Amino acid sequence: MKHILESDHHVGDWLTQHQFPAYRRKQIQRWLFQGRAEGFDDMSDLPKALRDQVSENFQIWTTKVVEHQKSADGTEKLLLELQDGGRIECVLLREENRRTICISSQVGCAMGCVFCASGLDGVDRNLTTGEIVEQMLRLQRLLPEQERLSHIVVMGMGEPLANLDRLLPALDQASSPDGLGISARRITISTVGLPPAITRLAKLNSRYHLAVSLHAPNDELRNEIVPVNSNIGIQTILDAADHYFEVSSRRLTFEYVLLADVNDRPEHAHQLASLLKARNVLLNVIPYNPVAGLPYRTPSSKAIGNFRAILLKANINIQFRQRKGDDIDAACGQLRRKTVKTTELVDIEPLN
Ligand code: SAH
Repeated sequence: MKHILESDHHVGDWLTQHQFPAYRRKQIQRWLFQGRAEGFDDMSDLPKALRDQVSENFQIWTTKVVEHQKSADGTEKLLLELQDGGRIECVLLREENRRTICISSQVGCAMGCVFCASGLDGVDRNLTTGEIVEQMLRLQRLLPEQERLSHIVVMGMGEPLANLDRLLPALDQASSPDGLGISARRITISTVGLPPAITRLAKLNSRYHLAVSLHAPNDELRNEIVPVNSNIGIQTILDAADHYFEVSSRRLTFEYVLLADVNDRPEHAHQLASLLKARNVLLNVIPYNPVAGLPYRTPSSKAIGNFRAILLKANINIQFRQRKGDDIDAACGQLRRKTVKTTELVDIEPLN
């Protein structure tokens, strides 16, 4: 049985092979992406024979919702169980007119950022294209009928640039008018900073917004909190990011998770300002969302204020992201950790 969300060609090919008219593909897509069909039987403008045959060959849902949390601020989080028992998280955020979803790209994560819950047990595997699209559809179905998803951030579990080959076809379905119809400008891929993969993305498809998780203004500190940095280095990442900017003409975002007494000192703010000042970037500072069992803390509001003032004075375009879903386990990977029992972990080869 094929996952219908795995590729937008599968069902089209199948329809042709079975002598069904090609326009049936668009009808099915509309039910899945614009409508709320849970099964092929809900697709009431398809002939019964087609509905029966298509349901013998394709499945729509491969995941099970094992937990659904709702925050007082409107944030909702799903914990999904995959067919092989792996678990991933995805989130719906409500902000004024925005309906943003945060989706995962891998089960676990291999990057090992020391403050993050997702990578504590390493990576299990890449998500398939269908599993990535399925998160989008599950979250869209949490909205009332008249509301549509407006933004996607690939900032859930995993390193999206280590799974580019499956992610890009999923984002194609998200941005296609036959799919979710979300403009590519409203889709952000967040990366720990893998230069060859950034360059590859620039070549393959530079329509998406790129966010780079920097978290430290010098290599010594970054090697400590983002261990993969030891083999990469900030300068190489900045070069690749500059190249992406040139090719895409889209302003880059740099993310900086503020950890008390680790990377929140005035000297860090000054160094960060000099790294970024010649660049047309947005700096997104995120006060740490504490993870049970990890020793990191959110800085005091005084430390946050000082950090901000230094960057503002240096004319850096800075934005402080509000933490959302504090009353649920919204920090990436937290909910899964609370519920995960045993996982067998295998190392996967980075694709790039
Ligand atoms: N691997 C990618 C995308 C997933 S992480 C990346 O590194 O960008 C998405 C963002 O959430 C990253 O900036 C990450 O550093 C941040 N993050 C992870 N755990 C966090 C926490 N507990 N509090 C605040 N931000 C966190």
